Amino acid sequence: MNLIGPQGTRPEQGKLSKGPGMARNQTAPTAEEDRESSREISVLGALWPFMRPYRLLMFTATCALVLTAGLSLTLPLAVRRVVDNFRISESALLNQYFLAALVIAALLAAGTGLRYALVTRLGERVVADIRKAVFDRVIGMSPAFFEKIMTGEVLSRITTDTTLIQSVLGSSVSIALRNLLIFMGGMVLMLLTSAKLTGLVLLIVPAVIVPIMVLGRRLRGISRENQDWIAASSGNAGEALGAVQTVQAFTHETASRAQFSQMTETAFDVSVKRIRTRAYLTVIVIFLVFSGIVGVLWMGANDVRAGLMSEGTLIQFVIYAVLVAGSVAALSEIWSELQRAAGATERLIELLNATDTVQDPKAAQALSQPVKGEITFQDVSFAYPARPGVQALNAVNLVVKPGETVAFVGPSGAGKTTIIQMIQRFYDPDQGAVLLDGVALPDLQRADFRQHLAMVPQDPVIFAASARENIRFGRPGATDAEVEAAAAAAAAHDFISALPEGYDSFVGERGVMLSGGQKQRIAIARAILRDAPVLLLDEATSALDAESERLVQAAVDELSQSRTTLIVAHRLATVKKADRIVVMEEGQVVATGTHDALVAEGGLYARLARLQFTDGLAAE
Ligand code: ADP
Repeated sequence: MNLIGPQGTRPEQGKLSKGPGMARNQTAPTAEEDRESSREISVLGALWPFMRPYRLLMFTATCALVLTAGLSLTLPLAVRRVVDNFRISESALLNQYFLAALVIAALLAAGTGLRYALVTRLGERVVADIRKAVFDRVIGMSPAFFEKIMTGEVLSRITTDTTLIQSVLGSSVSIALRNLLIFMGGMVLMLLTSAKLTGLVLLIVPAVIVPIMVLGRRLRGISRENQDWIAASSGNAGEALGAVQTVQAFTHETASRAQFSQMTETAFDVSVKRIRTRAYLTVIVIFLVFSGIVGVLWMGANDVRAGLMSEGTLIQFVIYAVLVAGSVAALSEIWSELQRAAGATERLIELLNATDTVQDPKAAQALSQPVKGEITFQDVSFAYPARPGVQALNAVNLVVKPGETVAFVGPSGAGKTTIIQMIQRFYDPDQGAVLLDGVALPDLQRADFRQHLAMVPQDPVIFAASARENIRFGRPGATDAEVEAAAAAAAAHDFISALPEGYDSFVGERGVMLSGGQKQRIAIARAILRDAPVLLLDEATSALDAESERLVQAAVDELSQSRTTLIVAHRLATVKKADRIVVMEEGQVVATGTHDALVAEGGLYARLARLQFTDGLAAE
C-alpha cells in the first residue's frame, strides 16, 4: 500500500525540487488543485456507505432536480408560443401564456432552491461524517503508521480531500445530473423542433469543441505549473523569513532576494504563457461559437422566409441549442472534478482501511486491581520498521519491581527511549514480550493499561490552551483544586500564579510563552495528576539553569515516590537517587547496579560518569 502522498512523485514537483528551499511545509495542507486525480471514477462508489443514511434526502433532491430540468426544457416551448402568437387578437390567450410562463418560473425557482438546499446539505453532512471517521481512525494509529505517512499529508486528506468530495457531492453531481437530463431532453426536443437544423448543429459541434478541448488541456497544464511556481516561491520566502535571523547573521539577504526574485519571475513568465493561451482560447471560442450560431440562424432565417418554419420555432430551436451546448460545456468541466474527487476518495478510503501494526486483542484480559506496576522485559528484541537492519533492542531481559526507580543510561542510540516506547506498546517486539503485572501487553486493551502509565517526554508537549487545561490533560475529570495541588507538587504553582491570568493564562501553541524548565514542570504536574502506578520519564537533555534544574529535580522526586519509575537519565543527581541503574549499549543491557557498584566495576558506566557527569560531580 502506498501511503506516501502523491506530492514528490509528480513530475512537476520533481522538476521544481531542483530549486532551492523547495521543501513544502509538512504541516500545511495542500491546495485543492494540487491533489492527484484518479482515472477510476468508480472509486466514488466507496462513498456510498457514508451517503446511505441520507437516502430520503437524496431522493427528494433528485425529484426536485428532475422537476427543474423538465421545467427548463418546457420554457423554450412557452417562448415559441408567445412569439408565434404575439400578434393574435385575443389578449386573453396571450395573458394565459404569460401567466403559464410565470408559474413555470415560480416552480423553477422553488425547485432549484430546494435542490440547492438539500444537495449542499448532503455534501456538508457526508463530508463531516467522513472527516470524523478518518480522524477517529488516525488518532488511534501507532507510530509506525505515522512513519509511513506525514502528518501534513493526513491533514491534507482530512481538509483538502474532503473539501473536494464536498464540492462534488454538494454541487457537481447534481449539476452533472441536471446537465445530462438537459442534454438528452434538449437533443430530443431539438430533433423534434427541426431535424435539418439539428443535423447542421451536429456537424458544427465537433469543429467548435475539438480546438477548445485541445487548448483547454494545454491551459490546465500551464495553470498547474504556474501554481507550483507560486507555491515554491512562497515556500522559499517562508523558509527565509522563518530563519530571518540566520539569513541576516550570515548576510545572506542579497542571495535570498535573488532567489526569491528569480522564482517570482519564473512564476510570472509561466503566467504570461497562461495568459497568452487563455487569450487565444477566448478569441477562438467566441468566434467559433458565434459563427456556429450565426450559421444556424442564417439557415433558419432562410427557412422562415421560405415559410418552412415559424419565427417562434426558430427561436425555440436556438434556445434548445444553447441549452444543449451549455450542458456539454458543464459536463466536460465536471468530468475533471469527478476525477479529482475520485482521487480524494481513494486517499481517504486508504486511511480508513489502513491496518495498524499494533492491534488490540479480540478477547482482552483485565489487569488485577489495584495495578502494582511491575514491568518485565522477557528476551525482547526489536528493530524499528523504518530501520530493519538496526537492532534497537537486542535480547533485553529486565524486571522492574513495583515502586522501584530505575535509571537507564548509555550513549545516544543505545535503546533507552525504545524501552519507554515498548512499555507503552507503541510497537510490538519482534521477539520476546513486555509484561505489566505479569500480563503480556498484547493481551490487554491498550486504552486499559495505558491508563496506568504516566509519561513525561523529553520534549514536553504544551497544547494551545490554558495552563490549567494543559495540566488537566493528565486526568480530564480532575477538579481545579486537584490541578493546583499537582502543580504545587511539581513546583509549578508559583510561576503559573504569576502569569497574567494565573491558571487561566493561555500558554500558547507548543508553549512558546514558557521556558524549558517551566514546560517540564507542567508536564510533570500533568503526570502527577494522572496518579498512575507506573511513571515513564525521558529526562531533558538540554541544560536547564541551576534554579530550574533544582525545581524540576524536586518535582521528579515527588512524582517518583511510591510508584514504579523508569527514567532515561542524563543527570547525575537522577542517577544517584535511583534504586538501580541499567546501562545500555547498542540495544543491549550491559550492566546493572547502583552508582557506586558500577563506578567500582570500571566499565562503560564509569566512563560515562566521568565524561557526562563531570560537571555534576564537580558540583557535588
Ligand atoms: P536512545 O534513547 O538510547 O538514544 P533510541 O532508543 O532512541 O536510543 O534508539 C535506538 C536505536 O533505534 C537507534 O539506532 C536509533 O537510531 C533507532 N531509532 C529510534 N527511533 C527510531 C525510529 N522511529 N525509526 C527508526 N529508527 C529509530
